[in-house]
Amino acid sequence: MDQAEKILVTAALPYANGPLHIGHLAGAYIPADVYVRYQRLRAADILFICGSDEHGVPITIRADKEKVTPQVIVDRYHAMMKETFQRIGVAFDNYSRTSLPLHHKISQDFFLNLNEKGFIKEQSIRQLYCGSCKRFLPDRYIEGECPHCHSQGARGDQCESCGRWLEPEQLVSPKCKICGSSPEFRTTKHWYFRLSEFQKKLEEWQNAQANWKSNVREFCSGWFQEGLTDRPITRDIDWGIPVPLPDAEGKVLYVWFDAPIGYISSSVEWAQNQGTPDRWRDYWFDPKTKLVHFIGKDNIVFHAIVWPATLMAHQDFILPAQIPANEFLNIEGRKISTSRNWAVWVDEYLDVFPPDPLRYWMEANAPENKDADFTWKDFQLRNNSELADVLGNLINRSLSFIEKNFEAKVPPAGHLSDADRAVLAAIAESTKKIGASLDDFQVRRAVGELMDLARTGNKYFNDEAPWKALKVDRARCATILYTTLQLHAALAVLMEPFLPFSAEKLWRMLNGPGSHRDQKWFDVPNLRLPEGQTLGNREILFSKIEDAIIEEQVAKLRQSD
Ligand SMILES: [Zn+2]
Ligand SMILES: [Zn+2]
Repeated sequence: MDQAEKILVTAALPYANGPLHIGHLAGAYIPADVYVRYQRLRAADILFICGSDEHGVPITIRADKEKVTPQVIVDRYHAMMKETFQRIGVAFDNYSRTSLPLHHKISQDFFLNLNEKGFIKEQSIRQLYCGSCKRFLPDRYIEGECPHCHSQGARGDQCESCGRWLEPEQLVSPKCKICGSSPEFRTTKHWYFRLSEFQKKLEEWQNAQANWKSNVREFCSGWFQEGLTDRPITRDIDWGIPVPLPDAEGKVLYVWFDAPIGYISSSVEWAQNQGTPDRWRDYWFDPKTKLVHFIGKDNIVFHAIVWPATLMAHQDFILPAQIPANEFLNIEGRKISTSRNWAVWVDEYLDVFPPDPLRYWMEANAPENKDADFTWKDFQLRNNSELADVLGNLINRSLSFIEKNFEAKVPPAGHLSDADRAVLAAIAESTKKIGASLDDFQVRRAVGELMDLARTGNKYFNDEAPWKALKVDRARCATILYTTLQLHAALAVLMEPFLPFSAEKLWRMLNGPGSHRDQKWFDVPNLRLPEGQTLGNREILFSKIEDAIIEEQVAKLRQSD
């Protein structure tokens, strides 16, 4: 590589109104983390940014329910999510929060910039007002019957049953969610972003993005066909970023306007914390930077249409180069529902299991092209029959054999046979294939290729049978083990994006130099543990998970239902 490729990776800001569940992880955070860890090994100049989304109605609704202030809610869940991300190994360069004064200032400046350029207009609208609560109701504070599928409990902004976007006035017999009474329409004003003016520019821009995923392209073309309309970017709640205009009392910026700006303010905060306060500009203002937004499919409209349009309006910043949006994760055949507690909470998972088996399940079943279904049985199966039986077993039995017969030292290479060379060639081939898959955001395929390399290693070890060679030809036995150890060293580095905790452990067991994270991806095929080097202490990489523990988890899930 001449100059390191510059990549700015973001993962959707999670709402600070509850703990993280596995659907969040599978949709955005694990795919992003895999990609980032791989790019770090490629020595890319990469910045990985995220933070808690602390504004918006879901947070005030939660606060109302618990009779506490929104600040109490966001403080609690910001701390919790930050810790959970660390425990599962999602390694952000910065994890910020949108309630910071820094973010408020940047968002208000962004709004004023667009306003000065004429891309924001004031508009009087008729909005539902609750007479008994004495307030205008934001969309999510209104519930009623969906005009499309006629299910009850549709929100003022969206029907969860049929997924259609709604306007509050479309609901049949709307009710105030706070007090249950029927609201009435009154006139108020809001500020609108002139999204319609960007339709042509957005279409041209997207037509040039040939490598975007089809789910994103198809979703957007549906929106373009319907025609983009100007969208209100202010709301009537008292929690959020005040609209920075003199006649805007009681109005805050719509959370979907300020949340993506959080990617910028998190980068600014990162640069400040590094002691290089201008460094964020190197990413956001440099057209050579590849900006990648990892999101779930429910966020496509904001990241692929509204956000790029606001960036185009502002004009200073780069536009996203890739938006790898994932489909949803279901649990045991049913849609995740936090209100019904049909979810697997990541912190609770981590109290029972190590992080890597869950990461592995999500990588092997990443909902890239269609929804995926998490079942505890399948989780157990993937762990036991792949991580433990294939990857863990190869490493454990070869290392224990070397301990017993070669004093836990790397045996001499001797003369390599065709079979040995074939294994080393397989390392080179897999390194290339896994890299190409990850460059293409194909995590599922990439982790499958990693496991195939471990299978190749197992087959080699069985076919060459060092335990037989030991009795008749000790030099040949040494060569087989030398070759196997070089495969392990390669695996330790190739595992890093997917199984970072186990990769670190394996590197320690091999007593590799420095950290496996200091290795370079393109050097993996040439990586050699030197002859005579003493290995580290052997540990079990992956333990099997017993039926009883899985049954407990299933019972817990069913009980909460
Ligand atoms: Zn509906
Ligand atoms: Zn009310």
